[in-house]
Formats: sequence, structure tokens, C-alpha cells
Amino acid sequence: MEDKNCVFCKIVKKEIPAHIVYEDSDFLAFLDINPQSPGHTQVIPKKHYRWVWDIPNAGEYFELVKKVALAQRKTFGTDWILSKIIGDEVPHAHVWVFPNDKVKGDKKDLAGNAEKLKEEIK
Ligand SMILES: [Zn+2]
Repeated sequence: MEDKNCVFCKIVKKEIPAHIVYEDSDFLAFLDINPQSPGHTQVIPKKHYRWVWDIPNAGEYFELVKKVALAQRKTFGTDWILSKIIGDEVPHAHVWVFPNDKVKGDKKDLAGNAEKLKEEIK
């Protein structure tokens, strides 16, 4: 299942580069290109599901969302991690996970932040 015009499907197929912080056979987590705060991550299923609520193994999916949040806590030294499920910007299921904007760090340093999160998530 895929949509040829879907930006997130293209990221899954590595046709569009992204700062990937985690990848397994079902899911992918990568940094948002317009971060709200340092380390702002998108967690998506590799298959093109329109909504988060369509993902069959949603339990595993949310375990990964939690893993990303815990990695952000450690990396950016805060307990306060936000997440958002809206679903309107890209028609491919995604959860935003991002630290509060009071944390120290440069939100534009995607490469550096990805490297730090990758270390924590594995
Ligand atoms: Zn897609």
C-alpha cells in the first residue's frame, strides 16, 4: 500500500532525504524539517495508512512513540515532551513528538540533534 505522491512514502523509500533517528521493518522516525523545538520528530508507519487509527499494530507503534519521547527527555534534559496527532498536513499517519520550546539546543541543527537522538533510541 503506497501513494506515489505522498511525501512520507518517499521518505520511507529514501527518495527524499531525512534525518532518520529510528527505523525497523514497520516504522520510521525522522526529524521534522520545520521543527517546533530541538529534536522534533515525526513517527510514521512505513505502510501508507491515512490515519494513525488505521494502523493494525498500533500498540507497537505507540511503544516507539514513547521510546522517542524518552530519548528526547534524556537528550534535551526535560520531562516535558509534547505530542500531537492531527493528521491534516500530510495524508500519511504520523505523530509529532517534540520537547517543550524552553529546552536548550538549536532546533535547526537537524544533523546534530538526529545523531544525539539516534544514540539514545537504539
Ligand atoms: Zn504515504
